[in-house]
Amino acid sequence: MLELRPNCELCDRDLPPDSAEARICSYECTYCADCVETILHNVCPACGGTFVPRPIRPRHAWRAGKMLGLRYHPASTTRRHSPFSAEEIADHSARIRDLPPDQR
Ligand SMILES: [Zn+2]
Ligand SMILES: [Zn+2]
Repeated sequence: MLELRPNCELCDRDLPPDSAEARICSYECTYCADCVETILHNVCPACGGTFVPRPIRPRHAWRAGKMLGLRYHPASTTRRHSPFSAEEIADHSARIRDLPPDQR
């Protein structure tokens, strides 16, 4: 199950589970759309992969008998912060950003 992290790991802005601004890599590293576009250039600082919009988990359990939705699987409250410096992020992104996702 996807871990819905509560903040951008770079600028620390809140990214609640219903945010349309949250972006994730395949390892669930979580950033806001602004940071992904203007600072990371669609390169995850940790794994080098691309980002996609984070799916919004429904608030309601829509299927009878199925315990699905935010009420049963709430968002994480553990705030995370990228361990990389701005310079490390810029170097890492510059090396990788021009490679298409399937060639990284
Ligand atoms: Zn951000
Ligand atoms: Zn990643």
